[in-house]
Amino acid sequence: MKVTFPHMGNMYISIKVLLETIGIKYVMPPFCNKKTLEVGSAYSPEFVCLPFKILLGNFIRAIENGANVILMGGGCGQCRLGYYGDLQAEILKSLGYKAELICLDVGNMTFKDVLDKLRPLTEGRSVIDILKGIVYAVRTVLLVDRLNKLANHIRCREINKGEADSVMRQFHSSIEKAVGFKGVKDILTSTRNQLKKIGIDKKVQPLKVAIVGEIYVSLEPFTNLNIEKFLGNMGVEVHNTLSISHWITSHFIKNILPVKLKDKPREAGKEFMRTDDIGGHGLETIGNSVLSAKCKYDGVIHIFPFTCMPEIIAQSTFGELQDKYNIPIMTLIIDEMTGEAGYMTRVEAFIDMLERKRGYGKKDIEAC
Ligand code: SF4
Repeated sequence: MKVTFPHMGNMYISIKVLLETIGIKYVMPPFCNKKTLEVGSAYSPEFVCLPFKILLGNFIRAIENGANVILMGGGCGQCRLGYYGDLQAEILKSLGYKAELICLDVGNMTFKDVLDKLRPLTEGRSVIDILKGIVYAVRTVLLVDRLNKLANHIRCREINKGEADSVMRQFHSSIEKAVGFKGVKDILTSTRNQLKKIGIDKKVQPLKVAIVGEIYVSLEPFTNLNIEKFLGNMGVEVHNTLSISHWITSHFIKNILPVKLKDKPREAGKEFMRTDDIGGHGLETIGNSVLSAKCKYDGVIHIFPFTCMPEIIAQSTFGELQDKYNIPIMTLIIDEMTGEAGYMTRVEAFIDMLERKRGYGKKDIEAC
């Protein structure tokens, strides 16, 4: 039995740690690229959202490399994510691929439900190893997100342009060869130390931009055309409000805690949308935009796949939100036809406008 999983940004690092600690054989799909998108799009319904196509591309490429069990996170929220698993399983079957798809709707499952669903994979493994795998995977998520945050902080301030990128490139190529939590943790520590050695201009006060929107395109650099890196190299400090650690905390850890914790972005989002859920991360998008304005960010970039219903609803509140909080928001809609040049020109024009706005109205540039 060989397991595979889809790529979503740095998530592969923690899944790798999880499977290696438990002792489950796996096949990692090639990182998302043009071929993944082409393969996925060829067999997906035309109007389905982009993450569906890329995930399907991941699955097909991993099956062709020997995988026969697919692990993926699903959900039955208010958008079509709830149908992803069943539909993708049907498509794979119709194409003649023999692979079982295990869909984990962790937001609506108890810890025991998750373990039960994973039972066919964990049969014969000790409970201690399974728990150790989960704990190590969660720790990896937190450490990787911290490293990414540090890289974003350095990139926009570095004196010699490109140093942070080169350290992070090296990080990704070393992590592929690392084995288990210890191997990954050692690389994380040495990468952190290398980033801290990069010379930065401490006097610079970069523009601060928050990224909000649909989680898959916000976190997967192939789909968002590496927006964090692009902005960082323009001298902009980027804060991606979506992160795997936030997703795990709000969908999994929160459910196993005895007390109900409030989700700050969702609560903030209710100021403009009086409901508990609009599907996907729509409510978080509104809330994160409000929180970014309150934290004196210069602007917000809203990013989502073409036809994503929750984000279209969130976008409808932006007129009112921008007027009330005086924060510019630019929306980027991505699909398989998105051209890099046009996309980057829009981002550059937005940053140019933010620079002029800051020059006119000198904000208090306090970090949140
Ligand atoms: S949140 Fe948007 S992109 Fe994600 S599955 Fe739902 S409709 Fe598709």
